[in-house]
Amino acid sequence: MGRVPADLTLGDDELVVAEVFGPTFQGEGPSLGRRAGFLRLGRCNLDCSWCDTPYTWDWDRFDPATELRHEPVASILARLDAMAPEIVVITGGEPLLQQRRLIPVLEGCAARGWPVEIETNGTIVPDERVVALVRRWNVSPKLANSGVPFEQRIRSEALAALRATGRAEFKFVVAEADDLGEVAELVDAHGLNPVWVMPEGTDPITLLDRSQKLADAVLERGWNLTSRLHVLLWGDQRGR
Ligand code: SF4
Repeated sequence: MGRVPADLTLGDDELVVAEVFGPTFQGEGPSLGRRAGFLRLGRCNLDCSWCDTPYTWDWDRFDPATELRHEPVASILARLDAMAPEIVVITGGEPLLQQRRLIPVLEGCAARGWPVEIETNGTIVPDERVVALVRRWNVSPKLANSGVPFEQRIRSEALAALRATGRAEFKFVVAEADDLGEVAELVDAHGLNPVWVMPEGTDPITLLDRSQKLADAVLERGWNLTSRLHVLLWGDQRGR
C-alpha cells in the first residue's frame, strides 16, 4: 500500500498536488503526441517496485512536505489556461484517491472545451459524476512485476466499472515478452479491450530495445503498442 502523509489537512476547494506542468505532449497511449497540460496529484494506494513517480507517495525516500502541496482549483485551472492545451491529462500517483475533489477541475476543463484523460491504476471504482466529465480513461492494471500483491492490484469491480464507461483503454507496463501471457490472462478474465502494451523504461535505449523485443508478439496477440514519447525526448526529467 502506498504511504499517505498523515499531516495534510485540506481546504474544501483544494487538492493534494505534486505537479502541474506543460504544455508538453501526452507521451503514452492512444493520444500520444497530443499537446497537453498535466495535473499530477499526490499519493497512491499501491507501491509498484518500478514506479517512475515515487515522489508522489514514497515517504521513505521523499519528503511529502517538499513534494506535495495543497492547491486550490482556481489556481490549477489558471495554470492550465496558460498552457493552451488541446487535452488535459490527470495523473498521479493515483488520481482517483481524490476523485470527488476533482469534479470542479473537470467542470472547469469542460467549460473551456478541453477533453480530459485520467490515468488510473484501475483499483478504484470511478464516481458517476467523474465518469460523465472524462473523455478517456487510461487504465493501467499492474502485473506481478510491480511487486504488489494480486488482491491489491487487481480489483474486479473497479475494472468492470471502468470498462462499462465505454471510454477506457487498458495499458500494461511490460518489461519482457514473458509478461504477455499474464496480460492475456487478465484481459480474458476481465474482458479488457482495447489493450495497449507499453515497455517499462525511463531511458530511450531501454525503451527502444524492449519495444523491438515486444513488437511482433504484441501484433500476434492483436494488441496495440505504445512508446513513451516524453522519455524518448527528455529522459526521466520531471515535469516534461
Ligand atoms: S500505481 Fe502508478 S503511481 Fe502508484 S506506485 Fe504504481 S506506478 Fe506508481
